[in-house]
Order: sequence, then C-alpha cells, then structure tokens
Amino acid sequence: MGINCFRLLLVFAFISPSVCLYGQTPGEEGDSPEVSSYSIVIHGGAGSSAANASPVQVKQRKASLTKALDQGVAVLSSGGTALDAVESVLKILEDDPQFNAGKGAVFNAAGDHELDASIMDGKTKACGAVAGVKTVKNPISLARLVMTETRHVLLAGPGAEEFAKQQGVEFVPTDYFDTPGAKKSWERYKLRMKSRTSGLNRNTDGELETSWKMGTVGCVALDGEGNIAAGTTTGGMTYKKFGRIGDSPIVGAGTYADNATCGVSATGIGEQYIRNAVAYDVSAQMKYKGATLQEAVDDNLRRRLNKNDGGLIAVDKDGNIAMGFNTAGMARAAADSKGRYEVIWGDASGKPRK
Ligand code: ASP
Repeated sequence: MGINCFRLLLVFAFISPSVCLYGQTPGEEGDSPEVSSYSIVIHGGAGSSAANASPVQVKQRKASLTKALDQGVAVLSSGGTALDAVESVLKILEDDPQFNAGKGAVFNAAGDHELDASIMDGKTKACGAVAGVKTVKNPISLARLVMTETRHVLLAGPGAEEFAKQQGVEFVPTDYFDTPGAKKSWERYKLRMKSRTSGLNRNTDGELETSWKMGTVGCVALDGEGNIAAGTTTGGMTYKKFGRIGDSPIVGAGTYADNATCGVSATGIGEQYIRNAVAYDVSAQMKYKGATLQEAVDDNLRRRLNKNDGGLIAVDKDGNIAMGFNTAGMARAAADSKGRYEVIWGDASGKPRK
C-alpha cells in the first residue's frame, strides 16, 4: 500500500469512525432495542359450525382460545421463543376439557384414549412427536422432550410412556381424560356400529371419516428472532381403531415448520392429511413455486383435499397469518405485534358469531 493511500485511509477513519470500526452504519450503536415483533395463530379444531353449538358452548370455547392466545402473546411480546409460545399455548388447551387434546380427548373403538402430538422448530428442523400415549398429561411437552432429549423424531405407545417416565413428566390415570361429551359421542357411535350387520367395512370407515368430534388443537408462532415453531396435539378421531395414528404426530402431514417459508398445523381427517403430506406441501409450494402463504393454504384446502376434510393454520417468515378450512367451521384465534387480535368460531364464510 502506498504512503498516500495509507494517509487517505487514516483520514477516512478519523472522520468516519463508525464506518471503519466494525462496519456499523452511523446511528446503529446505542439505538434502543427493537420491540419484539411476532405473529401467532391457534386452531381449536375444524368440523361443525358454531351454529350447531349452544351460545354457552361458543362463549366458553372462545374464552378458552382467548386465554391460550393471551399466553402466546405474553411469551412472544416479552421476547420469548416461538417454541415456548407454542408449547405453553398447547398445554393450556390440553388441560381444557372442551378440546379433543389432553383432558377431553375422544375415545377410541376400545373405549380408551390414545393421544398424539408433535412439535417442530423451523430454525433447525428439529422435531419431536409421540403417538398413542395413554397416561401422559401433556403429550405436547413429551413431544418436545423427544425433540430435545433423543436423536429420534417419533416415539409411540409403551416406548413413549417409558421415555416419559425417564423424563419425569406428569402422569395421570387414563380416566383423567374422560369427559361426558366425549363419552356421549363414543356411545352414539358404538350404537350405530352395532346396528350394522357387516362389521367394519369401507362404508363404516367412510362414516368414521365424516363425523369426527372437533377440538384438536394446534399453534404456529413466529418470534422476534425470526424463528417459526408449530405444534399439534389431539385425541384423534372418535371410535378410531385401536393403534390408529393420525396426522397430528406426523411431521409433514399435521405439523411442519421451516424458517425459510412457514409453519403449519392441521386439523381434520388425519388420513387425508397424511396421504397428501399437507403441512409440508404448504411450505413446498412457497419454496418451489413462489406461492404466497394464503395461496398455498387455499390450494391444499380447495384442490388437494376433499370438501369437509378439515382446516389449516399457518404463519410465514414475514409474519403473515393464514387460517382456512373446508368444513362448516373451525375455532381459531390470531394475533400479531402490529395490533391484530381476533378469536373466531364462525361459519364457512369466516363470519364471526357471538
Ligand atoms: N387430525 C386429527 C386426527 O386425524 C383429528 C382432528 O384434527 O380433529 O387424528
């Protein structure tokens, strides 16, 4: 370097220290920290319309979603992670008997509860899931432990329960999950099955598919660091065959998250979501086709799935929120740091009901 050039650099460094030191742009140092930006969306299951529920039921379910949404907002607005927001929101809904997850889970054909859950971290693509657990109070937290404490993605049945013991999570007797509503649906179903002469066949499986009790719960969040997380937890479908595993614990079907695109949680007829790899497809359409979040969600609900299959919630890397369903209704809630805040259980037009 010539002497003149060296002098020039010295002068430049003197008059413009912030450029030479650390490559900062002027004014960057000492700026007050930015308020955490975030987006969060929750579903409380797709299925029947709020019009079929009593005003008390609608009010209660919306109050529960509000409580869960407030929890997620509290975590995210104070700089917490998307993963913490998703887990804590879903724990609240698992503990709430109005939803088909944790307490309130549906009964399977054998009269038992078998719970499924999954969670995914869009930053690392780490994910964890459990299927067919019977005595773990909060399957979503166990799913997160599978993600963080094992090298695996999905643990099922007795193995998942054994892992839960090792991790010291809270256990409950299996009748803890019982609720009168879920029992009534199961009894109605059983009667209908008995009145058939031919036992389980294509037709009765078809019937199973069209009359599930709504109330699976899911949550997707984007935190101030730009990390996306998604989680889903469920009791599955009423009168499901023992051992049946739905889409909720299947990463790519019921749950997916990728910081480069979006996070997704699904609810509906699990087999359809597995066959069509729905949660992953929403992300893939954004990544490979350049679709917007809403386009990718709509395409799945209108073209890839059948009418009445279910719904989807999603958040993209820019904080956009999508909530869609092709059933009569889907309980849902959303909020973001720009001031959006809504809790809806409405009809297919999306019109909120009181
Ligand atoms: N997708 C769940 C399952 O198939 C049920 C639901 O979302 O209502 O297990």
